Amino acid sequence: MQLVSLKYFRFESLLQKDGWLSPAYVGVDESGLITYLSSQPPAQVIAVESVLGLALPGFQNAHSHAFQYAMAGLAENHPAGTSDDFWTWREAMYQCALSVNPDQAEAIATILYAEMLRHGYTHVAEFHYLHHDKDGKPYSNLAEMGTRMISAAKTAGIKITLVPVFYQKGSFGLDPQPRQKRFISKTVDDYFKLFEASKQVLKNYNNASLGFSVHSLRAVDLTDIKTTFNQGPKDLPFHLHVAEQKKEVADCLAYCGKRPMQWLLENLDVNERFNLVHSTHLDDSELTTLAKSGATVVLCPSTEGNLGDGIFRMREYVKLRGRWCIGTDSHIGLNPMEEFRMIDYRQRLVSNQRNTFEGDAAAYLVNEEIESGRKAMGFKSKNHFEVGQPFDAFIYNSTTHLLADTSDKNRLSTVVFTSDSSRIMGTIVDGRWIVKDQHHARGHFIKTAFSKALRELKNR
Ligand SMILES: [Zn+2]
Repeated sequence: MQLVSLKYFRFESLLQKDGWLSPAYVGVDESGLITYLSSQPPAQVIAVESVLGLALPGFQNAHSHAFQYAMAGLAENHPAGTSDDFWTWREAMYQCALSVNPDQAEAIATILYAEMLRHGYTHVAEFHYLHHDKDGKPYSNLAEMGTRMISAAKTAGIKITLVPVFYQKGSFGLDPQPRQKRFISKTVDDYFKLFEASKQVLKNYNNASLGFSVHSLRAVDLTDIKTTFNQGPKDLPFHLHVAEQKKEVADCLAYCGKRPMQWLLENLDVNERFNLVHSTHLDDSELTTLAKSGATVVLCPSTEGNLGDGIFRMREYVKLRGRWCIGTDSHIGLNPMEEFRMIDYRQRLVSNQRNTFEGDAAAYLVNEEIESGRKAMGFKSKNHFEVGQPFDAFIYNSTTHLLADTSDKNRLSTVVFTSDSSRIMGTIVDGRWIVKDQHHARGHFIKTAFSKALRELKNR
């Protein structure tokens, strides 16, 4: 098929896997696919938008619980003499989960997704387990809440992989607690009914796709985890939380005699379709086998830090050529550059060495996030930008003082290690600016709906 360019951009530089293309002319067609990519201007030009910016590929946010954004920053007051950890935070999270209705959930997700776009994420995997109404009864459309997530993504203009989650138990061998009632599918069949209903919703939005999931080993019967994966679709990404908390590892060991990652690696054919969120507490053997499996570890550094989870064994994992990408999970932080810095700095702090990675750390971080992040969404690519692929990018101002006179060699590390969001010019999805100069095209509408939801919730 002949690709017809609708318009052209000219950027000062554009980032590919092997470095910068400077300058970069990008042609896009009506549907936002790249039709032309070169350092030379096209022979026949319809219109060129010249941008004094650096084009980076849009990032993938591979782990989101959208409703938790409504409580971001609300769990940071710790009275003297009390103990606060993940499990007390989880109680606050349940209160939030129990209170939101579909309209409110959609309004929260919409502004969250708009904020993700503003920070450079162009695709989100919504790890979605808030399925039922406030009494725990299924909505007449089983996928009502998933429908709202897709509608939120469409309004905000972000691409979404909806990951409907199977959540069944209170913990290992325990019935669910009343405050988990909105999450529960009792059986594998119930879960697949929900999954099929979620599939129907995809037709509402061209940029929606599907994954499937069990929440964690503590939330689904171990036999049912095997059944779900084995009976599930063979061509979609599979997501689950693993080994986030030491208590979870101890409980799993007490319940079945295996650590969570150990059980997973021994009982399922863990391969590149697996996206294992957190994977914080691993022993040597788990780390080695996991790295060999081709699975992607989804790191959520801001949330893991905020919750006091622990530190993933990144330095060793990367030496073993393990694959990973990032997610913002509870959304306490939404800046991908901060996530990269935390990944690197938490290793430096525990090792007393600066070189977590060999070679160009920024190039490694960005390249790995893009390749494995896209895989976590169910997509593959050879390069960051390719003719025939959608033009999704976020653009840094190339005229700011540190970047203006920085060489090709040091440009990306200057962006990754020094920049804040004020240097971002905007975000392009499918060849169109969605956010420009910090302003989202539908920002006023989105903020008004969010304010209404918060006034109703009265939780802030
Ligand atoms: Zn999570």
